[in-house]
Amino acid sequence: MMAIDLFDVPQTRIPLIGSQHTFPVHRVYCVGRNYAAHAREMGNDPDREPPFFFMKPADAIVPGGGPIKYPPRTQNLHHEIELVAAIGKGGANIAEDDVDGHVIAYGVGIDLTRRDLQAEAKSHGKPWDPGKSFEQAAPISALHSVNELGHPTQGRIWLAVNDELRQEGDLADMIWSVREAIAELSTLYTLAPGDLLFTGTPAGVGPLVSGDRVTGGIDGLDEIEITIV
Ligand code: MN
Repeated sequence: MMAIDLFDVPQTRIPLIGSQHTFPVHRVYCVGRNYAAHAREMGNDPDREPPFFFMKPADAIVPGGGPIKYPPRTQNLHHEIELVAAIGKGGANIAEDDVDGHVIAYGVGIDLTRRDLQAEAKSHGKPWDPGKSFEQAAPISALHSVNELGHPTQGRIWLAVNDELRQEGDLADMIWSVREAIAELSTLYTLAPGDLLFTGTPAGVGPLVSGDRVTGGIDGLDEIEITIV
């Protein structure tokens, strides 16, 4: 990466389809284990262990996808395709019925994970940050405004590696809906305009290697494509 002068440090922004504006990224929240089949493939019981939250830094966002450098200190980089909700209006203790009014757009994101570092952290009761929070760990498609899209609660979500389908599910299979997750999140943090929520991944996560071309999508949203270099 080229050296950046202090006063030129950029604000991460994501294209908003059909708008002259771009979405300025504030915080990036993520839900863990929000599809039962994925919780089971990771060795957990979705009935006993409810979803929970972790964060990625705003500069981990890669707007529009593209080339992603294979990150250091891992031999097991994993893909997790996710619906991402973009917060346009902040607030705390948001009621479930009021959540829609706080979400202005949705996108398709990939929660890239250094699975070996995450597994090591889990086994020692240590924080997940090295497994989840690193440069380019959160590529995301352009965002679709709710004005034309509405608030998707069902629809196919999928990811392919080199055109081979790896992950497939339906938004309706989320343990916590977007409304429930954002209502819960807002009891822990005061949400702000510019916040994103990665809403969890369906089953089929797996490793990526250099040269892989990864595509993913959700019904009604833009596809995302990244290449591991
Ligand atoms: Mn995830």
